[in-house]
Amino acid sequence: MSARVEEFCPLQDNEVRMYACGPTVYDYGHIGNFRTFIAVDLLQRFLRQSGYKVRYVMNITDVDDKIIRNSAREGVPVRQYTAKYEKAFLEDAATLNIQQPELVRATDHIPAMADFIAKLEEKGLAYRTDDGSYYFRIAKFPAYGKLSKKDFAGMEDGARVDVDEYEKDNARDFALWKAPKEGEASWKTGIGRGRPGWHIECSVMSMQELGETFDLHAGGEDLIFPHHENEIAQSESLTGKMFAHFWFHARFLLVEGEKMSKSLGNFFTLRDLVLKGHKPSSIRYLLTSVPYRNQLNFTFDGLKQAATSVDRLRNFRLRLSQAQLPQGSNDAMAKLAGETMVRMKAVLEDDLNTAQAQAAIFEMVRAANAAFDAGEVRKDDVTALLGALEKFDEVFAVLADDDAPKIKSILDWARSEGHEKDISPELIELAGSATLSDADIEKKIAEMNAARTARNFKESDRHRAELTAAGIVIENTKDGVRWRRK
Ligand code: AMP
Ligand code: ZN
Repeated sequence: MSARVEEFCPLQDNEVRMYACGPTVYDYGHIGNFRTFIAVDLLQRFLRQSGYKVRYVMNITDVDDKIIRNSAREGVPVRQYTAKYEKAFLEDAATLNIQQPELVRATDHIPAMADFIAKLEEKGLAYRTDDGSYYFRIAKFPAYGKLSKKDFAGMEDGARVDVDEYEKDNARDFALWKAPKEGEASWKTGIGRGRPGWHIECSVMSMQELGETFDLHAGGEDLIFPHHENEIAQSESLTGKMFAHFWFHARFLLVEGEKMSKSLGNFFTLRDLVLKGHKPSSIRYLLTSVPYRNQLNFTFDGLKQAATSVDRLRNFRLRLSQAQLPQGSNDAMAKLAGETMVRMKAVLEDDLNTAQAQAAIFEMVRAANAAFDAGEVRKDDVTALLGALEKFDEVFAVLADDDAPKIKSILDWARSEGHEKDISPELIELAGSATLSDADIEKKIAEMNAARTARNFKESDRHRAELTAAGIVIENTKDGVRWRRK
């Protein structure tokens, strides 16, 4: 609200109550949406890691103009229309290792929304029009514009706008409640029949779950005006109290330098990218590689680099866990791990500088790998180095080698939904390793080793070729055979 970075402290003890505007479930989410959701996920993970107790609520917008229009066009009830996309959102979020917030649905709160609007009307803050719609009278809220820092001095009292989304700088009385239209879904409530406007949904759900004043409200930068400005106006004019203490807005994702849009054809969902042969972990890593407040330009080169970075981290962890090391410890390693953790915490505390946190862990990996090569790592150093890696991963969540089953379910989805033509050869290769479990792979490697020990090289080569064909990379090291999924 102050448009400056401020020291964060919760309103009550060490409990953080936060709310993020969730998806509008009228279609599959695109990776721009997920940039925002991952940024908020990272924030709440870091708050928890820092010792706060976090209550994180996200809404599912399952009624708005687009949903009403699309469900009417398909002739199905709203819930039936949105169920598919709500499910897809939850699956995609889980695929991207987004920890699930407490979820609330707009359609479960319609009576509460009607009550809220009735109270606004009682106080003269809202008015009803002849058709049965209700509007918020923004002239009654002189602070209107305080979040977006827009000056609405010349605004016209009584000018109205009834669509949920409207262009910038258009300060008008906005719709709280929309009268029913022929053929469109509506609900019967204490203020008459109709449906809620988008903005009222978030005021009602956030205050119901978190109280009239809570700590932090998040969303993408496009929500600052009008959505969040309208949430503030509705909420604060009714309660007379500050609505949200801190605001967190993620900058829009660009694609190859341009705004991502359907018409430009540069519009990607998570599933699009996976079908092209990219791993969910690379996508998550890329989307966190630029601090949330800075512009992030999505490119396929960037995605490849992200994949390499994740591989390097996973390989380093493998090296730590599989190496045969001499007893004892090297103080320099404990120091390196300790300093890395201090630095990661410091940069994340500074407005979540994710790029610097990634740089810190990579410097550690580089230095530790050099020490490994020089034979300077001892058995007891492993715990310290793994500890730093785990701290990093509590927030970034890319180390678990679980891309294969996730890819496999997207592949199954594509086949069942008739998207076979979008399945790339790269994906088929990637998915190969998903057919083998860790135990299967260990077993095959043991067979391969046994064959080699028996000098049956034909047999051992056959096992190796089978594993390679299944997307398993096998490396011979001085500590024995090491494997990973491609
Ligand atoms: P929606 O499903 O359209 O309600 O959007 C869900 C969230 O994604 C909101 O917080 C939006 O602000 C955010 N969002 C939409 N497009 C982008 C984008 N290109 N980059 C980052 N966030 C976005
Ligand atoms: Zn919202």
